[in-house]
Amino acid sequence: MSLQGTSPRRGLTSISSKLNKVLGDTDGMQTKITRLMNSCIDTGIDLEEADEEAQVDMLETSMRTLVDLQKRLDIEKDTLKGMRIQLQASQPDSDVDWVALYDETNESTWASWQNDLSEHEKYGKHPVYRKFREALWSVKNDGPLPSMFEEDGDDDEVVLGAQKISLYCPLSRQLFDNPMQSSECGHSFSKSAVISYIRQQNQGEAPCPVPGCDAVLKLATLLPNRLLARKVDNHLISANDKDNDNEYEEVDE
Ligand SMILES: [Zn+2]
Repeated sequence: MSLQGTSPRRGLTSISSKLNKVLGDTDGMQTKITRLMNSCIDTGIDLEEADEEAQVDMLETSMRTLVDLQKRLDIEKDTLKGMRIQLQASQPDSDVDWVALYDETNESTWASWQNDLSEHEKYGKHPVYRKFREALWSVKNDGPLPSMFEEDGDDDEVVLGAQKISLYCPLSRQLFDNPMQSSECGHSFSKSAVISYIRQQNQGEAPCPVPGCDAVLKLATLLPNRLLARKVDNHLISANDKDNDNEYEEVDE
């Protein structure tokens, strides 16, 4: 990052706009990583169903690598944001080695993420990673996911995470059938119900019908919710087995 050849202020403006571009690109990459992690959930369910334990383990390692990668991008983003502020406050002719500062800040923050945090703090709190573990667990087990890591039990947030969700579609009022989840707000609906709901509205989008939710539903942001589909299946099986009318299931959201 050299300011040579341009007037210092113009140089700063141009660096600032380049930083904005980099920050925007980083956000785009993080969105792609989240999408990739979500698709790993489906793969994980398939592998677990097929008893491919070794491959499930490999997938889990990949999920952790993706969590790390997202964190690495977060760190670089924070460093850039901090540097943008420092750059604007600095004297135009200051001889700060910005590249070295950038590298140092990144490396020290990254080292502390790698060495100072527990597995639980790094992975157990990541929403998509938790969803992945819950999906794998639900393939062969009923009930909420037990503690993933030792510290889980001490964590109020996680303990409070367990709550009841309905197995009924908020649109059709029937048990979920092919549930699709909005990636905007996380609410799920039966596929045919949500498609006809969105089509009734203009422009191919519609307000989320769940009370209190401000999100907009679009066909493009709906993804199959296989975890919920499985819970409905399990419910139907157990309702067949024993005559129970329990329409709620304990889940860890
Ligand atoms: Zn919603």
